Amino acid sequence: MLGLMQDQPLLISSLIEFADCHHGDAEIVSRRVEGEIHRTTWREVAARSRQVANALDQEQLAFGDRVATLAWNGYRHLELYYGVSGSGRVLHTINPRLHPDQIAWIANHAEDQILCFDLSFLPIVKAMHARCPTVRKWIALCDADKLPTDSGLPNLESYEAWISTHSQKYDWPSFDENSASSMCYTSGTTGNPKGALYSHRSTMLHAYASAMPDVMAMSARDSVLPVVPMFHVNAWGIPYSAALVGAKLVFPGPALDGKSVFELIETEKVTFAAGVPTVWQMMLAHMQASDLKFSALKRTVIGGSACPPAMISAFQQQYGVEVLHAWGMTEMSPLGTLCTLKNKHLTQSQEQQMAIRLKQGRGIFGVEMKIVDSDGKKLPWDGKASGDLLVTGPWVIKSYFKGESDPLVRDAQGRGWFPTGDVATIDADGYLQITDRSKDVIKSGGEWISSIEVENIAVAHPAIAMAACIGVAHPKWDERPIVVVVRKPGAEVLREELLAFYEGKTAKWQIPDDVVFAEAIPIGATGKILKARLREQLRDYKLPGI
Ligand code: AMP
Repeated sequence: MLGLMQDQPLLISSLIEFADCHHGDAEIVSRRVEGEIHRTTWREVAARSRQVANALDQEQLAFGDRVATLAWNGYRHLELYYGVSGSGRVLHTINPRLHPDQIAWIANHAEDQILCFDLSFLPIVKAMHARCPTVRKWIALCDADKLPTDSGLPNLESYEAWISTHSQKYDWPSFDENSASSMCYTSGTTGNPKGALYSHRSTMLHAYASAMPDVMAMSARDSVLPVVPMFHVNAWGIPYSAALVGAKLVFPGPALDGKSVFELIETEKVTFAAGVPTVWQMMLAHMQASDLKFSALKRTVIGGSACPPAMISAFQQQYGVEVLHAWGMTEMSPLGTLCTLKNKHLTQSQEQQMAIRLKQGRGIFGVEMKIVDSDGKKLPWDGKASGDLLVTGPWVIKSYFKGESDPLVRDAQGRGWFPTGDVATIDADGYLQITDRSKDVIKSGGEWISSIEVENIAVAHPAIAMAACIGVAHPKWDERPIVVVVRKPGAEVLREELLAFYEGKTAKWQIPDDVVFAEAIPIGATGKILKARLREQLRDYKLPGI
């Protein structure tokens, strides 16, 4: 027997309609690429997202066609979030920090039809547009009078001119909630980037879950600053959960330095902020140097890489801001765990509470987790046993976009679990702690650097026989790559020559910080480099100048 409740699909368009109807006057504040502060409201964002939908209809984009963005966090990007997905197309947010070759590869793989970009990314677009045959229109996210006239780009239009001729009325279509809504590529450890394709249903359920009190606890009384980029896993879902609760949104645009972020927090009375440790490190350094204090900030979600203990205590003890340590990944929309205390912890000492806050947190309803040993056997939740972390749930990936193999691991009941590539412990209270990555990617400033890519370039040099790239701790960027190389017999190459060899072959920030010359690199039985042993050999190594 079926239930007798209304069968309404969970669609992203309902979020913007709700925000318009119930929180229309709540503000959306953005620092623009031009530098000045722009103010709008949920009502206006809703109206302009309907204009975007009408413009896409006129372009005759089919249901499910991809519209890409290369954009900072801002109101126009938000309008695209709703106009593109709400009208049944797929919003493909591209990470502009990638090398133009990688961006072109991703845009081709996704078969993007329209690409919208902030003017700061014009050089990238110029470098790649000729290699993107599927893109038939380029939209610069600017006023009509700011459109560059000498870009050489075919079919270039300003965003404002593009939407201005269209009506602010639009009947959002109804369709299957499992339809694709947005996509984001993740740089894997091997081969090319892989596309995570989110659905309306997964996005909506993630938005409900992330707003809950023990998760991000967002409300209509919050002023929310997502410093985490809208091109990285939908800014952890905040553009959706903020609409769901009617919160004020504050966007930093390209200004992510400590001073600019701090000023925005203060002028816009931000109560809740989200970002990776690197951003907060820059802001705390600025505050400490100028002896500044917050007037409104209450809590901040920190994730993407492990949050250092000193950062948690600085926020909590010096500034009275609660740190919510979080763990997730692109393949999980991204939230998996978030660290809030339970009632029984409140009577514990500061030290004991800190030990919990350092963990990545406990599972959110909607994400099931387990840790397993190398035979796939479930390990106990005792805070000691550490194993491969697997997850399952309605906002966890089933398969990659155009993926050829099934990424899931089946259990005895046939349920598919996604192997996260992380190694973790889980304690008796359900708190997860990431102890290591089974992958060897280097996390620098919240972004991934593929060790394999760094190695491939090194071995392309005529004097290099073998290369292994590992991450080394860095006070500002968390980790920086170094490359350990073995020279070919009789061949010579200097450190500076090898580093110069990287120029133009990869993004600047992906170039290793140092070269270590070695006689040999440890190799395992199956011919793979033993990175753990290499790290062990280099345990006393220090980055130059650190
Ligand atoms: P991404 O898909 O780029 O968001 O990266 C996901 C990966 O980042 C995870 O699989 C973890 O290895 C790492 N990660 C994310 N959050 C944390 C955290 N709080 N602590 C440690 N590692 C993290």
